Amino acid sequence: MGIVVQKFGGTSVADAVKIRKAAQRAIDAAKKGNNVVVVASARGKQTDHLIADAMELNSNPPRREMDQLLSTGEQQTVSLMAIAMHGMGQKAVSMTGGQIGMRTDSVFSKARIQSIDAKKIHAEFDKGNIVIVAGFQGIDENGNTTTLGRGGSDTSAVALAAALKADVCEIYTDVDGIYTADPRVYKKAIKMKQISYDEILELASLGAGVMHGRSIEFGKKYDVTIHVRSSLVDIEGTLITHEVPQMEGILVSGATSQKNLAKIGLIGVENTPGTAAKIFAHLAGAKVSVNDIIQTEVSKEKANLSFTVGNSDLLDAKTAIEELKSSIKYDKIFIREDIAEISVVGVGMRSHYGVANKMFDALAKAKVNIDSITTSEIRISCIVDEDQAETALIAVCDAFELDKPAEKRSK
Ligand code: ADP
Ligand code: ASP
Ligand code: MG
Repeated sequence: MGIVVQKFGGTSVADAVKIRKAAQRAIDAAKKGNNVVVVASARGKQTDHLIADAMELNSNPPRREMDQLLSTGEQQTVSLMAIAMHGMGQKAVSMTGGQIGMRTDSVFSKARIQSIDAKKIHAEFDKGNIVIVAGFQGIDENGNTTTLGRGGSDTSAVALAAALKADVCEIYTDVDGIYTADPRVYKKAIKMKQISYDEILELASLGAGVMHGRSIEFGKKYDVTIHVRSSLVDIEGTLITHEVPQMEGILVSGATSQKNLAKIGLIGVENTPGTAAKIFAHLAGAKVSVNDIIQTEVSKEKANLSFTVGNSDLLDAKTAIEELKSSIKYDKIFIREDIAEISVVGVGMRSHYGVANKMFDALAKAKVNIDSITTSEIRISCIVDEDQAETALIAVCDAFELDKPAEKRSK
């Protein structure tokens, strides 16, 4: 008997018809002889509505209470889905993150999973139940409800698949797979048959909202086969797998853009051993996740240092930097919130040259100014003005022919 984990995102459980359709998929998988776990997100835009409700009462709500509140969105879905399954003649039980022993650390709003008690789920399988688990949430050592960050139900699903050694983790969503770029922005994007963990990890952490970045880390570490597919039509989606040799032949697999970013710059920061260490240790202590860091020496005494953070971390980052005022000397601090990051990703970059100049050329032709550039072995990212994000992404996608299957591209 196999084990299948099926995750349904918000739009895939938005109303009664969709909940029944999702329930039917799970029942079909169970009828094929599998033990099935369903992981569900909050219905439709429920999480956004709950955030708006909280903001109406307090523009700086305590994070613990936000997690307590937001977790209710998923809890509604799972009990409704169980109710639907019972009506369809299927034994099923819904569970919160706490009830299945999804233990996390205590970093509210971006908690990390520490362990999962697989025994509890096996006990439900033994009773013939489909187990419907509330995604996005866990419980810390003190019994507090935590959440894993926006889009975190993917991570709940992949982590559960890893803990249960499931045959597959199916991610059912409103697109039929992973595309070369967000099809809402780049209309000509095409679906990929497969993509490596490393590539989708880069794309996800650089703004491709189709998968939660942490979920891919679990998938790669524990060898979970992830299948991203449509909840509406029954066709093959995209498989996320380990790298296979032919992937090296593809120069750029995908492109993405990320808004909701801020850049913090320290001009004329003291150029002495330990300065960067002190700054980033303090930011880490404040649980700020820092993206790209750029430092350049401007003289023997001074350097310019800048880094990007997600908008949701900006306030914490600012406070952390201000707290350092007495121990780190700098001339000026600047903050830009009107930026976006455009990135191209591909494992083929390791063995091909000319990617950077092609990207810069495409941006130049589209009259997009580049603020700063960062690279890794398999990606190149440019910070641009936020209002040029779409133009920039489309220009870059066209340049790398991301509207064509890899074998039909000119290079
Ligand atoms: P769910 O609620 O099912 O988790 P999400 O909204 O989180 O769904 O993710 C699906 C969305 O991700 C799509 O509607 C699409 O607009 C967006 N997206 C961004 N980048 C990509 C990409 N490269 N391929 C497919 N979808 C993408
Ligand atoms: N409901 C949460 C969100 O909207 C988690 C998820 O959908 O994965 O971010
Ligand atoms: Mg999602």
